[in-house]
Amino acid sequence: MPGNEPRRATRRRAPVRMNATAPYIGRFAPSPSGPLHFGSLAAALGSALEARQRRGAWLLRIEDVDTPRIAPGATDAILATLERHGFEWDGEVMRQSRRIDAYAAALARLKAGGHVFPCACTRREMADSALARDGSRRYPGACRDGLPAGRAPRAWRVRAEGAIHFADAIQGPQEEDLARDIGDYVVFRADGQFAYQLAVVVDDAAQGVTHIVRGADLLGSTTRQIHLQHLLGLPVPAYAHLPVATNAAGEKLSKQTLARPVDDAPPARTLAAALAFLGQRPPAALAGASLVEVWTWALAHWRIERVPHSLQSLAPDSAT
Ligand code: GLU
Repeated sequence: MPGNEPRRATRRRAPVRMNATAPYIGRFAPSPSGPLHFGSLAAALGSALEARQRRGAWLLRIEDVDTPRIAPGATDAILATLERHGFEWDGEVMRQSRRIDAYAAALARLKAGGHVFPCACTRREMADSALARDGSRRYPGACRDGLPAGRAPRAWRVRAEGAIHFADAIQGPQEEDLARDIGDYVVFRADGQFAYQLAVVVDDAAQGVTHIVRGADLLGSTTRQIHLQHLLGLPVPAYAHLPVATNAAGEKLSKQTLARPVDDAPPARTLAAALAFLGQRPPAALAGASLVEVWTWALAHWRIERVPHSLQSLAPDSAT
C-alpha cells in the first residue's frame, strides 16, 4: 500500500552489508492476504536468523501480485508486526505489484525460446478430462500442439520437461519428473495475472537471493521454480524448507483456519515459541525476557541442523 515507506525507512538497515567471500542474500516474501500468524512468523524468523548468522543480507518482498487474494491493509499490518517483533530488513521493501514489466519481459523470453504455449482450456474442461478423472492434477495437454480451431488463448503454460533434482538443506534430496508429476504449468493466468511461480523466480534473481528459507508448503513449487530458472538462464539459489505450523486438526495455520494473529501475544513470548517450534530449545526464561535478549540468544544459538526434518509440526496452543 503506498504511503508508508518514509515511516518505515527509519527502521530498516541500510546499506546492505555482505561478507565479500561468502555472499548470502536471504529473504522473506509474505503474501498480504491477511495478518501474520504464528507459522509465517516462524518462517520469517528462520530465514532471518540463518541470513544474519551467516553474515548475510535479509530482504523483504511483499508478494502482492495475486490481486484477488490481497486483503486491504495487510501489507502495512505485516510490516508493523515484523517491526514489533524486532525484525530488521535490509534495503527497500520490494513489491510485486510494481514489477509487472519485469514479469512481462520474462514471459517474452519464454515465448521467444518456444518454452510456453497459449492455452484455451477452462477449469471445467480440465476437470472433465480423462487425466483428471484419474485423480491427477496434470494438464491434459489439449493446447500443447496449438490452440483448437476457434478458441482464444486464456493462459500461457510452460512445457514441463525433464527431471529436476535439488538438495534441500532441511528436507534432504528432492526429485521430480515435471512431465509426469506436474504437467505443463501456468505462468500467465486466465485472469490476466502473472503466476506466482514466474514472479518469484524473476524477483529472487533481481534481488540476488542466494538462499531461500521458507515454509514446506512451498516445497512442491520448488522444482517448477528451478525449471524456470534454467529456462530463463537465472542462477539457482539454495533451498531450505521449514516445517509448516499446524493446528491440532493437522491444518496449516492460515486465515482460513482462523489462526490467531500473532499480535495478540507479547512479541518475546511468540519469538521464544517460534524458536522452540524450529527445534532450537530456548531456555524457558526467554519467554519472559526482553526482545533484545531473545534476539541475542537466537543469533548466538541458531542451528539450522536442529530444525525438525518434517513437512509440518504442531504449533503451540497459544498460536492456534
Ligand atoms: N508469498 C508466498 C507465501 O506467502 C511465499 C513465497 C516464497 O517464499 O517463495 O506463501
